[in-house]
Amino acid sequence: MSRRPSQVSQAVLAWALTDPDTVARYRQMIEVVPGWTCAWCTGALSGRGHGCFWLASVDGRDVAIIAHRFGFALEHGREELLAVPLLGHRCDNPLCQLIAPRHVVRSSPSKNRREWATRRRLAGGALADRRGARGRAREVRDAIRAGGDALDLVAASGFGQDGVQLACTAAWRARVAGLECLT
Ligand SMILES: [Zn+2]
Repeated sequence: MSRRPSQVSQAVLAWALTDPDTVARYRQMIEVVPGWTCAWCTGALSGRGHGCFWLASVDGRDVAIIAHRFGFALEHGREELLAVPLLGHRCDNPLCQLIAPRHVVRSSPSKNRREWATRRRLAGGALADRRGARGRAREVRDAIRAGGDALDLVAASGFGQDGVQLACTAAWRARVAGLECLT
């Protein structure tokens, strides 16, 4: 999880963080709904239900990053991101992009495991959801993409009072659909 990205990935990330179009594309896929606190990513999903943000193609190979890691690097810098063993979601919403206490925070594998084990026991908590993190994230994301009763679904999903976002372009969605995150 704290796997250090390859030199190519690091170079792409360094470029992406200073590229206005890429930064705008990242911000564009985050939407916050008044009254909800999370900032939701509705782009591609990683295997764990995190947002997956495509950065660029290098020699025919796609380079992508876990979306909230990109958000963290935007906020605190690339070196800080690489120095943090792991980022945890205190809100238990893997799609959340809000870099803030109670949402995306600095953590470590052992700390994250401990907190996860504690919160998983909460009745009705998000971590006890039988769909699993990715299954639930996918259902919520798809519902948001489809419009309509997204908020109802989110409310029913066990996320609690959170935000909903969705604004990426159709072309970008098509591009990242099914993409596996490399970093
Ligand atoms: Zn959150």
